[in-house]
Amino acid sequence: MNRLENKVAIVTGASKGIGASIAKHYATEGAKVIVNYASSKEDADKVVKAITEHGGTAISVQGDVSKTSDVIRLFEETKKVFGTLDILVNNAGIYPSASIEEVTEDSFHRLFNINVLGPLLTIKEAVKLFENKGGVIINISSGVSTTPMAMIAEYSATKAALDAITVSLSKEFSGRNIRINSLLPGGVETEGTRMAGITGSELEKTIIANTPLGRIGHPDDIAKAAVFLASDDSAWIHGEKITASGGVYGL
Ligand code: NAP
Repeated sequence: MNRLENKVAIVTGASKGIGASIAKHYATEGAKVIVNYASSKEDADKVVKAITEHGGTAISVQGDVSKTSDVIRLFEETKKVFGTLDILVNNAGIYPSASIEEVTEDSFHRLFNINVLGPLLTIKEAVKLFENKGGVIINISSGVSTTPMAMIAEYSATKAALDAITVSLSKEFSGRNIRINSLLPGGVETEGTRMAGITGSELEKTIIANTPLGRIGHPDDIAKAAVFLASDDSAWIHGEKITASGGVYGL
């Protein structure tokens, strides 16, 4: 029995990396998936093709999660094509490293607009589409929300803010059958980490050296946890921070 049979799921930032893997795993579990992307239509369409070639259902929808009008369009399109929504994964995010000397108003607003305002805007629309039946929300945070490293003060602050949103809304949603959790990956090799020069760097070697399971994460490691958090297997988990890091962020 597929764990997400006939569920409708939006995965933001699903043209690459962790989001693409979550979209594919959800489709394998029977969900109909909206593959959201910001600029990479070709990559998003490849994810859709990979899903449909395996008998799954998916569409790609462009939309910058930090723009209200784009977010409204993303949810309108979802309603038009699938009629409802059951699962929202707030995965879209950026993670430029910056020393304190490099922090500017612009860098702050760009990071907070995408990583924090984005999830607030999407959740606002998701709640309307969940209607009375409820739904599940997963916020892709980061291990650095609780254990920040050097050179990523701004980014770490966005993910700590996202975790606070998870906890606050878990209480606000009382009695509405909406479950919400944060999923905190450790280092994962993706298009984004390759572009950022993290893959193969000294930082990556340090992460691996500090990881009890002895390797960098793979997008599938996070996607499997995201399937669990979307499914009834996690029915009693709500308002939590679940870490998937090979032990690097273990307590
Ligand atoms: P990635 O490979 O860089 O992919 C980022 C995705 O987000 C792309 O699909 C991109 O779309 C989309 N995106 C970026 N800005 C967007 C916006 N404004 N609106 C909509 N979509 C947008 O990223 P990743 O490494 O898989 O990371 C995914 C998430 O996991 C992020 O939230 C990140 O903070 C978190 N995370 C990652 C790691 C890691 O080591 N990789 C660790 C902890 C947490 P386009 O391609 O169209 O631009």
